[in-house]
Amino acid sequence: MPLNFPIYSPVQQIIHPFFAAHEVEVFIKRDDMIHPFISGNKWRKLKLHIAKLKSLKINTVVTFGGAWSNHLLATAAAGAQFQIKTHAFVRGEEISNPVLALCKLFGMTLHFVERSSYKDKLALFNANYTETEALFIDEGGRSDEGVEGCESIIEELADTYTDIFVAAGTGTTAAGILQAINKKALSTTLHCVPVLKAGDFIKNDISKWGIDTENLKLHSEYHFGGYAKTKPELLQFVKDFVSTTGIMIEPTYTGKMMYALFDQIKTGKIQAGGKILAIHTGGLTGFLGMYEKFDNLAPVSTL
Ligand SMILES: *Cc1c(COP(=O)(O)O)cnc(C)c1O
Repeated sequence: MPLNFPIYSPVQQIIHPFFAAHEVEVFIKRDDMIHPFISGNKWRKLKLHIAKLKSLKINTVVTFGGAWSNHLLATAAAGAQFQIKTHAFVRGEEISNPVLALCKLFGMTLHFVERSSYKDKLALFNANYTETEALFIDEGGRSDEGVEGCESIIEELADTYTDIFVAAGTGTTAAGILQAINKKALSTTLHCVPVLKAGDFIKNDISKWGIDTENLKLHSEYHFGGYAKTKPELLQFVKDFVSTTGIMIEPTYTGKMMYALFDQIKTGKIQAGGKILAIHTGGLTGFLGMYEKFDNLAPVSTL
């Protein structure tokens, strides 16, 4: 990687009585520590785009996302880091929130577009930019470059695990992880936890990248109502996990992933002796859009 950017993503064991009681070991790869805002899997998905941009001597990125998008913020911060202009089409009417304010702080130009025109992203790009001046990056960083970039999550591991858990939006990160598991011929099961409703499409999408899905286990039952939707049970779990481990997660992505991990152990699907790795995909600013929901939680811990 020619980009001078330090990757700091340690693996640490999570010590918790629940894991001890079930005789499993659980570790977490802290991709959230790569950068406060070029966070987690978003850096993995961006890095090859940035390398491509530099080699093509293009100076502008155009990308897409919702008003709380971790991908937009990561792109904005990476743009500032690597002297690249960043433009984004934001879905929906113009609003102000902490994530968009951070995007602007890092120099991103925002165009708010109605949901109907947001759907055709290539049309938006082509109407406003040309390929010689700007690079198109799809919503959430979904791309071949993104899949390849996420392979490094596995390549960096010094140990092997029986099970790996990751949250999925587009499934790009899961695809890269699975690709790397296959390349290394590991017998690890990848547990992919879609955060959207009807997440079964992710298996198909991963196959479309030509990746064998034999080691993939898709858990489409932990969406809690859909993307950015939540339930009191999930909020309580997030609070209990954060307050008993000191590792921050949030309800949109990593909370659902970690809930699934606990539930698979609790229901005996992962048995004693398991050595499990959770991928912390970052995105902690998501909490800022949801903190009020935590106001009315019971003080008691259920974990
Ligand atoms: C974007 C994001 C994901 C989803 O990644 P995909 O590659 O789109 O599946 C998972 N976790 C966090 C924290 C994210 O910000």
